[in-house]
Amino acid sequence: MGERPKTSKAAVLVEYGKPDVMMDIKIPEMRPNCILVKVKLAGICGTDVHQNHGTLSIKPPLPNLQGHETLGEIIELGEGRVQDIAGRPLKEGDRIMWAHPFCGECFFCKVERKPYMCLKSGKGYGFSDPELLRGGFSEYVFVNEETEVVRVPDSIKDEEALGVGCAFRTVVSGFERLKRHAPIGIADTVVVQGAGPIGLYATLLAAHSGAGKVIVVGAPAGRLELAKEWGATHTINIDEVKNHEDRVKTVMELTAGLGAEVCIEAAGIPAAFVEGFDFLRKDSVYLVMGQTSTKTVEFMPNKILQKQACIIGSGSADARHFYLALKFIENTRDKIDYSKMISSTYDLEDINVALDNMAKGADIKAVIDNRNRK
Ligand SMILES: [Zn+2]
Ligand SMILES: [Zn+2]
Repeated sequence: MGERPKTSKAAVLVEYGKPDVMMDIKIPEMRPNCILVKVKLAGICGTDVHQNHGTLSIKPPLPNLQGHETLGEIIELGEGRVQDIAGRPLKEGDRIMWAHPFCGECFFCKVERKPYMCLKSGKGYGFSDPELLRGGFSEYVFVNEETEVVRVPDSIKDEEALGVGCAFRTVVSGFERLKRHAPIGIADTVVVQGAGPIGLYATLLAAHSGAGKVIVVGAPAGRLELAKEWGATHTINIDEVKNHEDRVKTVMELTAGLGAEVCIEAAGIPAAFVEGFDFLRKDSVYLVMGQTSTKTVEFMPNKILQKQACIIGSGSADARHFYLALKFIENTRDKIDYSKMISSTYDLEDINVALDNMAKGADIKAVIDNRNRK
């Protein structure tokens, strides 16, 4: 162990719609039950792009240190922080991932036992003042005492684990909610809207949940190929099948004219919500996981009645879902190449290029790679 670093270089969002600015942030003093982490990989999410543009539904005060999907290595452990949520001992050098902080006291923490719905958690990773050092677009992250962490098993590579930080744990949590309301049946057809990270992990879990058919509606072609590797039985390329009626017709043809029992929205654009309803069968379930923008769309609520549909919204997750996602990867990594989720890696200093490429759709999952820094 070298000397404890005093400052961390970090890319800070100072003004909405403007590029992030590199700053030196003072690393907080160690406190009991906290962890100082050196960032290895930090994923850039569609959420970060919306946040940069000021179009995200959550708008924390600026300046803000972004980056909510991070894989880091433990540099320093605060007194009392001895194990991860699964009871596995923690030591310096271990790789960990972490959920957002939660209060442990409110109704959703105590009664519902769903810390990701915490009413008082306040400042999450990627949504906080830079001096808290609670964001992945940085050299170091300070994991606070209200944060549960999961150790990444040694058998899993950094690149395989990174997607757990946001998309995969979101999908695991979404499937938990889906299972509670309407488990996927062996004869069911699942339509997945979107072939980005959430759509791909949803495809994987839909196939593993026993769905007879998994139809992925999205683009570009390369991502749809990956969707097939990950369990899609059919794909509809929206670059080729450009209009809504033709996409609905294709889904109807694949479902004997009835529609799908389950549709999973992972597209992000509000118009996808309207389209998803037309893919659904009567007596069906719509799991909505991709909608993070504040934009609106015209929709006829009567369709919910017509289809007698159940709509399930799901966002975020807690440390349990990180644990389950990592376990799933551990069990399936000989069959699935999880590292294919990452489309490009960038230096921290190139954060704005990476954000631009995500905004343009040139990247599906851009990642800041700090592993070769100095
Ligand atoms: Zn994310
Ligand atoms: Zn709470």
